[in-house]
Amino acid sequence: MALTENHPGVLRDSMALLTGATLFGMALAALDAFVLQGPWGPAGLALVYLAGGVPTGWRALRELWRDRVLDIDLLMIVAALAAAAVGAALEGAVLLTLFDLSHTLEHRAMGRARRAVQALMALRPASALLRGPDGAVTEVPVGVLRPGDVVILRPGAQVPADGVVIEGEGSLDEATITGESMPVHKAPGGKVFEATVNLNGVLAVQVVRSVEDSTVARMIELVTQAQHARAPSERFSDWFGQRYTAAVLAGSVLALLAFLALGWDTREALYRAATLLVAASPCAVVISVPAAILSGLAAAARGGVLFKGGAALEMLADVETFAFDKTGTLTTGKAMVTTVEALGDEREFLSLLAGLEAQSEHPIADAIRRHARAQGVDPAPVRDVVSIPSEGIGGLDAQGDGIWAGNRRMAARMGADPDVIEGLQDQAQTVVWLGRGPRILGAVAVADRPRETSAAGLAALRHEGVGAIAMMTGDRRPVGLRIGAELGFAPADIHADLLPEDKVRLVGELAARGRVAFVGDGVNDAAALARADVGIAMGAAGSDVALQAADVALLSDDMGRLAGAHRLARRTRRIIRQNLVFSLGMMVLLVAGSLFFALPLPLAVLGHEGGTVLVVLNGLRLLADPIRSDRGGARMGGTPQPTTRRATAG
Ligand code: ADP
Ligand code: MG
Repeated sequence: MALTENHPGVLRDSMALLTGATLFGMALAALDAFVLQGPWGPAGLALVYLAGGVPTGWRALRELWRDRVLDIDLLMIVAALAAAAVGAALEGAVLLTLFDLSHTLEHRAMGRARRAVQALMALRPASALLRGPDGAVTEVPVGVLRPGDVVILRPGAQVPADGVVIEGEGSLDEATITGESMPVHKAPGGKVFEATVNLNGVLAVQVVRSVEDSTVARMIELVTQAQHARAPSERFSDWFGQRYTAAVLAGSVLALLAFLALGWDTREALYRAATLLVAASPCAVVISVPAAILSGLAAAARGGVLFKGGAALEMLADVETFAFDKTGTLTTGKAMVTTVEALGDEREFLSLLAGLEAQSEHPIADAIRRHARAQGVDPAPVRDVVSIPSEGIGGLDAQGDGIWAGNRRMAARMGADPDVIEGLQDQAQTVVWLGRGPRILGAVAVADRPRETSAAGLAALRHEGVGAIAMMTGDRRPVGLRIGAELGFAPADIHADLLPEDKVRLVGELAARGRVAFVGDGVNDAAALARADVGIAMGAAGSDVALQAADVALLSDDMGRLAGAHRLARRTRRIIRQNLVFSLGMMVLLVAGSLFFALPLPLAVLGHEGGTVLVVLNGLRLLADPIRSDRGGARMGGTPQPTTRRATAG
């Protein structure tokens, strides 16, 4: 149906003009019929048929001719013509007027759902303050910014491009991206995103992505694509709409023949057949699904949750099992080194380890780099680095010797005996060994802790009655158990010591029992994200891997949004069902009325168009309630706030 296309403003305006003309014609015809009794009636009716019928009829005929698509709108035109043919032109005009009015209303309403996201565009700044190599600051259009450029952000300024803070400190409002309006503090090294707002402080930001590939640009693109991609139930209603429209046309002709065979007068038979045509036409059924899906996608995007299409939204509502990656997903990306055990000089050891980890984006690597920096140790030069997912990392040191860092499995791969370091493994912390060939140089223990939002987010999911929640980690079991205990996982639901392919296999096993969502951060788990029925990436702002591999991206790293997204998916499904039940019920009622109770044509039209508008408005309800963070607490009947345990350094 033409309704779901994206119409430019010109068309919107011309639609409004035609609707205005139709309404005027109808008013004139009605006034003349009931009050004036003058010569104005036919003129008014002609206007209604011209403005309300001809453009739609023309479009529907063209579609039929060119694309062999039977547009439902054609039914309305045929019914109006049939009415006119039997001398009920006024009723036909009422039909066209109501039809036109409801069409325009639907367009407006659906447009609102679409524009909810495109509105983000309006928030993208047009110009930036570029600092040249000589330190001079000039205002330039954002289009010319290239990675490496340095821009200056004054208080109140919008960030013109994705980048990294290199000087200054301040708070940013990132609501446009994450849906979260709490100010976020940024210091040198912090990532900033286009279209967020610098609240205070003067920052120098180095651009990392040009404007075309910024996070906001990707968001807009993803949501626009998502709105065009058809969900399975939408495809069904398209398919159904086509077949059904043909059936209604054929059925009405058959009914006409039957009425005539019963010996009815031709006029009466045609009128009743036209009423049947309107009553049985499936406009409301066909718009039921897209109205809900479009609004659902937009409501999600406003809350910083991107669905890659209606299919992902529908699928999430059906998910039985949620599987979570641990490191960087359930836990913060900010782990901490707690113990260092070097077999030789500790500074040399740290320098080599930091040199290796300089090239890794794993949260553990980040912890090690920060620890070394805090100790005033510079990373040693390391080259030819290869990362071995879920095991560790290897490379060549300045002398060209092979060095490596990683877990027990990594040590075994290198023929080293990790047990030369004693004590560390008794703690429920991640241990990273550093070795040169088969010789162990030392080890560090790294502690990570649950995100502050994890406990409440998981509690909200459980509260909604999700079937099962599991943890899948490449880390050691004691660490998984410790984190799991804080988050309320049963030991049986904690799967540890997994390689990326084990996660994929486990997701597959869980899938045998119902739909599975995998929630990860995109580091070492892109395959599991892709394997799951719904792959959900956390903290996806700025992470390309996660955005690509996932079906749903939570731009913020607030776990509460996950429960919010799940609830929204279920509400969308509920509204789709309500819409379908209502619109099908309405249709049955109207058809029965027109077959057995001589329902007048204008009433059939009123029921039909009214139903269509109601269904669209019902879908739009989703837009009124965007995803918010679910921080547990009061709403869920006193779920305890997460206890944040601080890992102690040293
Ligand atoms: P998770 O599944 O919990 O997100 P990963 O699969 O990413 O964990 O990593 C599993 C284990 O592999 C880590 O606990 C660590 O022991 C080891 N590892 C992975 N990457 C690195 C690295 N860059 N340096 C050291 N060890 C690493
Ligand atoms: Mg991880």
